[in-house]
Amino acid sequence: MGLLSRLFGGDGGNTGAVKAAPGPSNVKIHPAVDNGIKPAKPGFSGGTLRCHCKTNPVVVKVSDQTAHNHVCGCTKCWKPKGAVFSQVAVVGRDKVQVLENGDKLHVIDESAAIRRTACRECGVHMIGRIEDQGHPFHGLDFIHTELSPDAGWSPVEFGAFCSSVIESGVEPSRMPAIRARIKELGVEPYDCLSPPLMDAIATHVAKAKGVLPA
Ligand SMILES: [Zn+2]
Ligand SMILES: [Zn+2]
Repeated sequence: MGLLSRLFGGDGGNTGAVKAAPGPSNVKIHPAVDNGIKPAKPGFSGGTLRCHCKTNPVVVKVSDQTAHNHVCGCTKCWKPKGAVFSQVAVVGRDKVQVLENGDKLHVIDESAAIRRTACRECGVHMIGRIEDQGHPFHGLDFIHTELSPDAGWSPVEFGAFCSSVIESGVEPSRMPAIRARIKELGVEPYDCLSPPLMDAIATHVAKAKGVLPA
């Protein structure tokens, strides 16, 4: 995990433990996928994200469809209350614009590779941005499309960092049921990122080292 912790920063300590879960279909992963993964709307070109504040919410405009949407088990990504996984996607940083109440945003951990920016009042993460130009994912912002009232965003394509949910307090014995549920939803559970993203990271590292042509 050395490379990954360098890429994504250290570890946090957020708790998302959920008890008792008999069969795969009853295992809760994240509210956005628990009733099935909804497909993207053809031609969908973005929408707005709102934090959970009842008054003066932070509003972020995203003017493109997202990519690589996934449920993530790491302890750093923002999760809605009670969820075991987060749901997170990427979009070009030039397509992301804070429209309202940007003064409420603050960076949670300046030292993390992904600078997760949250609302100071409700704690919801609005934008995860990478400032290191040498990072494999520089140019992409991480966002949570569940914060949008708009329907049609790109669907969850895989489960990332599944084993890491144990670090949030999930009983290790629950892992087979959690992985079975993710498969039942029609996507693969991985303990890192998906193979295409892991390949992209390795390619970036190989080019930086000069073992592959830049
Ligand atoms: Zn808020
Ligand atoms: Zn994560």
